[in-house]
Amino acid sequence: MEQENQYYVDKYRSYMAPTYGPSIVIEKGRGSRVWDVEGKEYIDFAGGIAVLGVGHCHPEVVQILKDQSEKLWHVSNIFGNKPATELVENLTAATFAEQVFLCNSGAEANEAALKLARRYAVDNYGKEKDEIITFNNSFHGRTLFTVTVGGQEKYRAGFGPLPGGITYGEYNNLEDIKQKISEKTCAVILEPIQGEGGVINGTDSFIQGIRKLCDKNNALLIFDEVQTGFGRTGSLYAYEQTGVTPDILTSAKALGAGFPIGAMLTTRKIASSFVVGTHGSTFGGNPLGAAVANKVLELVNKKEVLEGVKRKRKLIEEFMAQTKEFSEIFGPLRGKGLLVGIPLLGKWKGKSGEFLKAGLKERLMMLIAGPDVVRMAPSLLISDRDLLEGLRSFKKAVQVVIN
Ligand SMILES: *Cc1c(COP(=O)(O)O)cnc(C)c1O
Repeated sequence: MEQENQYYVDKYRSYMAPTYGPSIVIEKGRGSRVWDVEGKEYIDFAGGIAVLGVGHCHPEVVQILKDQSEKLWHVSNIFGNKPATELVENLTAATFAEQVFLCNSGAEANEAALKLARRYAVDNYGKEKDEIITFNNSFHGRTLFTVTVGGQEKYRAGFGPLPGGITYGEYNNLEDIKQKISEKTCAVILEPIQGEGGVINGTDSFIQGIRKLCDKNNALLIFDEVQTGFGRTGSLYAYEQTGVTPDILTSAKALGAGFPIGAMLTTRKIASSFVVGTHGSTFGGNPLGAAVANKVLELVNKKEVLEGVKRKRKLIEEFMAQTKEFSEIFGPLRGKGLLVGIPLLGKWKGKSGEFLKAGLKERLMMLIAGPDVVRMAPSLLISDRDLLEGLRSFKKAVQVVIN
């Protein structure tokens, strides 16, 4: 119905704590398409911020959720449950990890990783080894610890006193980290590709250099793969393409394809610094979320899907290259696979929001990564047809902005 969207937007803004400001209220989704409360259809290149790896309401995921919802919704972690047990086994089989801590979000996965790194250092090297190195422009979540470890000052402003022992380094600058790392460093945390910070690729030499520095200083290397994980870059996790294995890896977003779940993956040796009672979560390992994540893992961790991600990336690159007028507006694409950063050039810098708005008018949902970058994170299973239709809408939106 006409006006219905405005009705819900007004209600939303009136009763929801004002941390968000949506202009559209969505009612349903299917694959790479969504509909708002008025029935307007959009192509979804936002993917719920890199969450909807298998698109909206994937029939097999819906089925597993239905089946599980009739068996068991929740038991406390005083008891085990089958889906969680299967999920952690499957995650370790698919990665470097030997043990997994389950939680409900990316921030919680990072919180667990950072706490574990501190505890591991205390257990093995003593209390002095408590420093965490992180990077400018990184994003690791919104809890007080993770937002402080995040490298964007605006997100922690006004929330002090903040946790201490955190040092900020320059991403892709190994020399800077050489100056900052020491025997007092317990962990270095990095996103293999900085997502929220502007879709910045970590170079292989930087990431490999960090690995060596961590080894030399007995510091753990934590990869925050909340955004890059679960097939987004064309491998199950991005670390597989870097030549580096982290000590701890965090996963969330696409892990549950929209069901809130997070995971911290690590080795048995490191995990042993968490014993019964040192850390926990009421909902972590919830059977509904675990059943869903297990199905998503099965759907995503397949050669044809991961190769499809790389092939679709090429389609996007070709489309961008074919469109002549783009070369003066956009720089070379950033990110990997279907984590696409489109940097704005010259006078278009600072205007990513305008492209986003124009996209919505053309019925295309996208993201930004700061004021200078348009970001796309469509479903890994998006059809070529939907992908190309979305790109044509993007082109129309760009023409509206520039004319
Ligand atoms: C989104 C994100 C987080 C935070 O995840 P939440 O589920 O919102 O807590 C952490 N790290 C990275 C890299 C992210 O992209």
